Amino acid sequence: MTATPVLVLLDHAADGTLRPPVRELLTLARTLADGAPVEGVWAGTLDTAAALPVLGAQGVTTVHRLVTDADLHLSAVVADGVVQVLGATGATLLLAVSSFENKETLARVAVRTGAGVVTDADGVTVEDGRVVTHKTVLAGTWTTRCAVTAPVALVTVKANSVAAEDVAAPLQPAIAEHAVDVSEASRRVRLVERIERADSGRPDLGSAHVVVVGGRGTEGDFTPVEELADVLGGAVGATRVATDEGWIGHDAQIGQTGVTISPRLYIGAGVSGAVHHRGGMQASGTIVAVNSDPDAPIFEIADFGVVGDLFTVLPQAAAELRRLQG
Ligand SMILES: Cc1cc2nc3c(=O)[nH]c(=O)nc-3n(C[C@H](O)[C@H](O)[C@H](O)COP(=O)(O)OP(=O)(O)OC[C@H]3O[C@@H](n4cnc5c(N)ncnc54)[C@H](O)[C@@H]3O)c2cc1C
Repeated sequence: MTATPVLVLLDHAADGTLRPPVRELLTLARTLADGAPVEGVWAGTLDTAAALPVLGAQGVTTVHRLVTDADLHLSAVVADGVVQVLGATGATLLLAVSSFENKETLARVAVRTGAGVVTDADGVTVEDGRVVTHKTVLAGTWTTRCAVTAPVALVTVKANSVAAEDVAAPLQPAIAEHAVDVSEASRRVRLVERIERADSGRPDLGSAHVVVVGGRGTEGDFTPVEELADVLGGAVGATRVATDEGWIGHDAQIGQTGVTISPRLYIGAGVSGAVHHRGGMQASGTIVAVNSDPDAPIFEIADFGVVGDLFTVLPQAAAELRRLQG
């Protein structure tokens, strides 16, 4: 690669805490940088005391902070800032966590700059100077490699694709402020309301290491699903049937028309494994299925299967895990 920095979009919660997959991306960025600096792009208020030690431990040399009176919750405004940082640094590769917001932001940046954008990669390498991404497509049935041919590559990477590792000698990142030149088009959008989602105390569905999913088989009672998720420190997900029935919010839906997840461990309970659902979870590390029907399609892709009633199996599993945890 060139000596220009590899940039990472630094997703953070409203309180300024970095979202866990960002550390994974910074680790990945170091492997791709080949000695060039790894730098971050931060949109919004930066709590230097909290964020810089984490970023320094990941070998980040510079944090590019976007400063504007416009609303940085709007992807159009963040895109304006990212375009500016790309120009200022000459970076040819920017990584971001796969999220709806980041995909929208990077699509806008790509339109503005002519960069090549790949979403939902689960691996990124540099081969002969080209950024090559790896991703599963068509409901997880194909694994593809995709080389970016444009001079600048923008890639969203799925959580849990890389194990985060700190550097041996932490750095003190510098801060570079960029007053965002907000475009006329971005000014035409105004955020009129934001509702903070109530904190469930569970990890974010899109980046959790463990996800326990309930389907129609729960018949609306997610208690055993939640109990097992909590014992494992995991997130709770659902099929579209469960969300359409109103048993759980739509933001818990996993699949083609919901969230795409790739946790290290997926446990599906009362989930048949329909193709639309598989499209959002088939890239999971280990797939466990609990279903009373031995012919349920989910067993075709499961690493471990339990034929049984979820209302018996899940509480037993939770109790045994609690016993093992002491
Ligand atoms: C355009 C389109 C987009 C879609 N997008 C999505 C999407 O994003 N995500 C998604 O999930 N779906 C999506 N769907 C719907 C999808 O096709 C399936 O209908 C849905 O995934 C099935 O959900 P399910 O597995 O909960 O229900 P079912 O398919 O009805 O399966 C329920 C399973 O529970 C088992 N079961 C019943 N009782 C028990 C018990 N007590 N213990 C253990 N097992 C039990 C049954 O044996 C069965 O296998 C989409 C459909 C369309 C047409």
